[in-house]
Amino acid sequence: MTALTACPAELRRLDAEDPLRSLRELFELPQGVIYLDGNSLGPLPRAAPQRVADAVSRQWGQGLIRSWNSAGWFDMPQRLGDKIATLVGADPGEVVATDSTSINLYKVLSAALHGAERDHPGRKILLSERSNFPTDLYIAQSLCAQRGLTLKLIEPEEIDGALNVEVAVLMLTHVNYRTGAMHDMAEVNRKARLAGALTVWDLAHSAGAVPLELKASGADFAVGCGYKFLNGGPGAPAFVWIHPRHSEQLSQPLSGWWSHAAPFAFTPEYQPAKGITRYLCGTQPILSMVALDAGLDTLLAARDLAPAGQPMVALRAKSLALSDCFIQLVEQHCQGLGLRLITPRNHKQRGSEVSWALDVPAAVPSGSSAYAVMQALIARGVIGDFRAGDGDAQPDILRFGITPMYLRFADIWNAVEHLRQVLQGGEWQRPEFARKQAVT
Ligand SMILES: *Cc1c(COP(=O)(O)O)cnc(C)c1O
Repeated sequence: MTALTACPAELRRLDAEDPLRSLRELFELPQGVIYLDGNSLGPLPRAAPQRVADAVSRQWGQGLIRSWNSAGWFDMPQRLGDKIATLVGADPGEVVATDSTSINLYKVLSAALHGAERDHPGRKILLSERSNFPTDLYIAQSLCAQRGLTLKLIEPEEIDGALNVEVAVLMLTHVNYRTGAMHDMAEVNRKARLAGALTVWDLAHSAGAVPLELKASGADFAVGCGYKFLNGGPGAPAFVWIHPRHSEQLSQPLSGWWSHAAPFAFTPEYQPAKGITRYLCGTQPILSMVALDAGLDTLLAARDLAPAGQPMVALRAKSLALSDCFIQLVEQHCQGLGLRLITPRNHKQRGSEVSWALDVPAAVPSGSSAYAVMQALIARGVIGDFRAGDGDAQPDILRFGITPMYLRFADIWNAVEHLRQVLQGGEWQRPEFARKQAVT
């Protein structure tokens, strides 16, 4: 590998003066890795192994079943939910950490459709985006089939025109997983409300990435992911938020005992719990909850460094500065090498990831050049990811998560240097980089 051009003093100064620079020390980051995939799986918080080990050997090993009370296992969904609430613009008692994003979406989408049916019987359309994350669309398809509804899929710019009196629910992902494009949540909510439709938001790429004002924005329902920007570990519990105006009015279909008003009364009749607790189902994976708690604490640590104790505002400012730097450096240093920016440049329309299409022919027949370039980058320790296109309007993309908790301007510089070398020397065309892995 050719030596990288040294990072300019100007960028090193930005790192030295960064008020959030100490947050990097909260993570275990492997030597020689520049991690640009925290939007897919957040890295390991340094505190997590110790906390999980304590939950295993002391709480489980010694405390045994007593730990449901003595170690606070029982109310972890609410306790972690309150921490998440501070990051997404909700009030205490409005969020629970539980289950997976897909399962939570099933619960809230059912509740939303139930609410729409009650208030506007006859509305038969569930509206979403064609480029929404597939699991969201699959869950929506299942519910539509059960309820005799139609899932209508549109492009983001068609939302206004499609919000008519037939729409029961509008289900959107706030930041698009492929392009990093972000909706104006308050504006969409306002229009949906005028049209009489309820809104369901997926915050998988927003929670812990951008400031959110869920409640003030007029949203109805939201779900989000624990293992991406919240650093909760592989398969971490996800979360649910419902506007309190709905929480006692609507029911969710997975009415397990943890959603019961008194689970330990063991009564045969179902009686839903008050508030957001109704959106639990069964027993939580406590060891995973403990790891998620450690992940949430990394974000809350930013509060102590941020002006006015607003962690997401400070993290957002750094995320935008890093992303702008990345875009600018790629456009300068990789000019003419085929990269085309997919993510909106406008700050208001961008989440915390930057994606590029690659307009060069693949090295092997039926291969993807973007895939091979990402594999070559990963081999150099620059970890982003690849997302396949549809062979039509959606191109294959190279996707880079920009996570201000632990990335430095020098990392951005070095990542771009590696990208330039991989593309310029044709290194990506080596046959081993065309080989497909199960998870991209
Ligand atoms: C990551 C992601 C999910 C993940 O769902 P799981 O149930 O955790 O597998 C769902 N929706 C969106 C938009 C995502 O980005």
